[in-house]
Amino acid sequence: MAEARKTRSDFETDSEWYTYQITHPERLEDDTKKTQTKKHEKGIFMCEKCGYIIDETDKYFDKVQGKNIKRDNQGDILKCPKCGTDKKNLKKIDKNKKNEILRKRRLKEEKDQARKLDIAKENIKDDIVDLLEDLSARLKRGELSVDRFVVVFMYLSQRIINRYTKDLDIDWLDYRKSMFAMSKTVTDLYDVQIDAEKILEEYDKNINEDKLYLAEYKYYIEDDKYSIADYELSERIKEYENMQSNLFKEERNRELERKYQQRRKELEEKAELRVQRRIERNIVK
Ligand SMILES: [Zn+2]
Repeated sequence: MAEARKTRSDFETDSEWYTYQITHPERLEDDTKKTQTKKHEKGIFMCEKCGYIIDETDKYFDKVQGKNIKRDNQGDILKCPKCGTDKKNLKKIDKNKKNEILRKRRLKEEKDQARKLDIAKENIKDDIVDLLEDLSARLKRGELSVDRFVVVFMYLSQRIINRYTKDLDIDWLDYRKSMFAMSKTVTDLYDVQIDAEKILEEYDKNINEDKLYLAEYKYYIEDDKYSIADYELSERIKEYENMQSNLFKEERNRELERKYQQRRKELEEKAELRVQRRIERNIVK
């Protein structure tokens, strides 16, 4: 350990103090200053492991990137701040090379995004057309009102779109218009003048308590193959329980069970095909 550095008050005369300073230069500080200016030269480096680029010549370097970089006492970078690999994997590159790499990466990123968007659109179409068919059939059978049809369809199609476009940039308003147009096409068959926007606004029921919505949500968003069959069974059981006569209950019960199993099988096959198409979209191209 070096002795504590003396100050002027430790000496009687100025000349003794000056002599002390000459014979005891402030080494530590001086040394680092010298080596720093001597050794490290600013440059651009690219990590050969992860591709991270460090640009010390960038004017914002000290404020932004520079903060995360560890250096030895010569000022050299010790390791890649992103993947942690040793400095020997940091290759020096010039400005043109850096720009070229960044341009290539940007193009690739754009291409990837476009491809992801195409896949997402296909998945959305797949599910929304399917959902529309399912809900239209219920509407036709009188199992749900026009208002409820619009609300369930609109809410669910938004969830379906969100599901597939999490990290993508899409214009929900455009989709919203198409969804309205689709529900109008279906409800037009009933010759009812509907204003879907108004129905949505005025629908004061909590959608999350709507059993059909929940069942469809589980099917389309959580890939629960049997949720719709379960919902249909619970609806039929309600009818069954309301039956006055005990006469056919036994028979009806068997029929319920048979229908339920058949529907489960049907939905399972449908769901598996849907998953299969989703996987294929991700592989092909
Ligand atoms: Zn790296």
